[in-house]
Amino acid sequence: MKFSTKCVHASGGPDSTGAISHPIYMSSTFAHPELGAPGYQYTRESNPTRDRLQDLIAALEDGTDAFAYSSGMAAIDGALHLFQPGDHLILGDDLYGGSIRMFTNIYEQYGIEFTYVGTSDLDAVKAAIKPNTKGIYIETPTNPMMEITDLRELSEIAHNIGALVIVDNTFLSPYFQQPLNLGADIVIHSGTKFIGGHHDVISGFVIVKDEELAAKLRLSFKTIGACLSPMDCWLVIRGVKTLALRMEQHQKNAIALAEWLKTQPKVTKVLFPGLPEHPGYEINKSQTTGFGGMLSFEVDTEETAKKVLEGVELIQFAESLGGTESLLTYPVTQTHPDLKPEDAERKGITRRLLRLSVGIEDTDDLIADLAQAFNK
Ligand SMILES: *Cc1c(COP(=O)(O)O)cnc(C)c1O
Repeated sequence: MKFSTKCVHASGGPDSTGAISHPIYMSSTFAHPELGAPGYQYTRESNPTRDRLQDLIAALEDGTDAFAYSSGMAAIDGALHLFQPGDHLILGDDLYGGSIRMFTNIYEQYGIEFTYVGTSDLDAVKAAIKPNTKGIYIETPTNPMMEITDLRELSEIAHNIGALVIVDNTFLSPYFQQPLNLGADIVIHSGTKFIGGHHDVISGFVIVKDEELAAKLRLSFKTIGACLSPMDCWLVIRGVKTLALRMEQHQKNAIALAEWLKTQPKVTKVLFPGLPEHPGYEINKSQTTGFGGMLSFEVDTEETAKKVLEGVELIQFAESLGGTESLLTYPVTQTHPDLKPEDAERKGITRRLLRLSVGIEDTDDLIADLAQAFNK
């Protein structure tokens, strides 16, 4: 089955009633026909609507098992339960701000050690390996600097030392990139973003293709209880039906906006993996089928940044990404306020950097909105 067909059909066909849209099983518990009978028991552990969604997401990432969590953060937390005190993880140094907060503020106190590395430099990754390195956790493209890591090479390095490769694939979605097919062991999504796609539901996923990992995740999933509710599962199933269509329009708009931003006198830098001059352009092309709908850009002064953020009218000044509506974000105060100022400055997350999640509106309307904001 091709990807766009999977988006529509991989949650399974109609049930015995013939319903084309799956029912939402709003039941916390399930009756048993007899002692020891198989089937559903309790919704924290499993639920028919959630199973539909999990089958769908596993199919999109070419995995065997997917777990639907109540948020992207809960999914990351679930994946971290695979590690133990004394383990060391190498992390990309330009991750979603909440992920960094979880690693440093929650997991360090439980004795897991982390080293942040710019993973587009594979020699730096090798240099950070320790005898207790058990995992490498990255995003590609990164957030918000859009840096690219070679997933095939990284996986080889990790597997040589018996470490797991975990990829937060939120930015490109499985439509453009399927890390399990490039060697990664675990894929994470904030389903809140492109997968859900409509800014109406918080959700997260962990996807694997290894039975042993799946068994460990299943135990922590049903024990912790950060499971996605049946209603929210249904919303995500509905969102995914148009994932392929949406990603094409996000990307078409992002390419046009990146080119337009480059011509603007007050724009000093455009970070978008679809620009041939972008560092990592070739590597990204070799491992994906596209560039996505996320871009960042730097303007000449903090005043310009403020003017644009406050001046956009169609585009909304808001956190989050990946939905039908275009959103403009100020990483330094919104998504990355927990970074140490010197780390933020070194990465280029300055008061002049803006991040744009390009929606599916008409290209001309988006350009016109940014143009009027620049000229206010
Ligand atoms: C939003 C986001 C998360 C966290 O997901 P929530 O659904 O907000 O909990 C993790 N990683 C990335 C890349 C994100 O954009």
